[in-house]
Amino acid sequence: MTRLMHIGSVPIGGGSPVSVQSMTNTDTCDAEATLAQIRHLALLGCQVIRVSAYSLKAVEALRTITKESPLPVVADIHFDYRLAIGALEAGCAKVRVNPGNMGGEKGLTELSACLKAHKKPVRVGVNGGSLDKDLLEKYGLTGKALAESAMREVRLLETHGVEDIVISVKASDIRRTIDACEEIDRLCDYPQHIGITEAGTIETGRIKSAIGIGSLLLRGIGDTIRVSLSGDPSPEVTTAIDILRAVGLRKDYVEITSCPTCGRTGIDVESIAKKVREATKDINIPIHAAVMGCVVNGPGESKGADIGIAGGAPDSGVLFVNGESAGRVKGDLAGILIEGIFKIAYERGYKKQ
Ligand code: SF4
Repeated sequence: MTRLMHIGSVPIGGGSPVSVQSMTNTDTCDAEATLAQIRHLALLGCQVIRVSAYSLKAVEALRTITKESPLPVVADIHFDYRLAIGALEAGCAKVRVNPGNMGGEKGLTELSACLKAHKKPVRVGVNGGSLDKDLLEKYGLTGKALAESAMREVRLLETHGVEDIVISVKASDIRRTIDACEEIDRLCDYPQHIGITEAGTIETGRIKSAIGIGSLLLRGIGDTIRVSLSGDPSPEVTTAIDILRAVGLRKDYVEITSCPTCGRTGIDVESIAKKVREATKDINIPIHAAVMGCVVNGPGESKGADIGIAGGAPDSGVLFVNGESAGRVKGDLAGILIEGIFKIAYERGYKKQ
């Protein structure tokens, strides 16, 4: 198990739930625009937000941002340790740096002292673009090279007494990322922030991220995740949550199983499933519902769900509740399922927000 640490109020590692991160793409100097984006991402389910601190003016804006942000703020710093110190003093809950470019021994000593004084964690991030040249020559562009490079950075911090370290090793290549994260997992017990970097636009990036992040999570690797997509960060958050649900790490929702439909399909499975999903999306209680198109495979799946419908003739089917047939139903099948799901949710303690 990885070490437990905290990014503001969000626990990372030590068996804590895997948390969802994203990054703003507004100009950090525009505190209001950045805060508006953070609030929106928080509503979607983002738990930790990273913000680029690229100048003294941006660090100044972080004072306002950290004060009003509903999420702990991580400052992303490159090349200037004074910006990292400024971001920590401005209230950031963590900084993401590359210790090797923090101004040599002087910069690293001052930054380490600041991290320890504020008791805040630091993330060491290495990707294909920031690989040490000698490691690149020794191992080629491989996961091992990424992991070794990250561990060098980690050791730099350790020699300065810093212990709260989160590691991220990312590549845009899925295999390389998995190799690197597995190697880190073998070498140390620091929490890992995982993701596929520069995964692309939403169409392809979602799939690459789901495979890469999902594979790692299923291996028990990853304490916090970010889906990196070009453009609006909103889909990063929704995709991250979908990944956590798909691998079974988040169960606080209505999971809907629906069949792919075929020549036997008797009801409009797709539209029923979509209506049920939309109507129940705010329920934060684990419930399993099934929408199946016929009585061949339908009863089996429906019996395994808390509630399900197996279609028959158009607009009719058999309703199953807790694995038992509740009789034939006809008419608005989506409405019948939605009503049944809410009944189960209230029985299980759901309270409408
Ligand atoms: S459940 Fe029935 S309708 Fe749906 S895909 Fe299977 S056989 Fe076809």
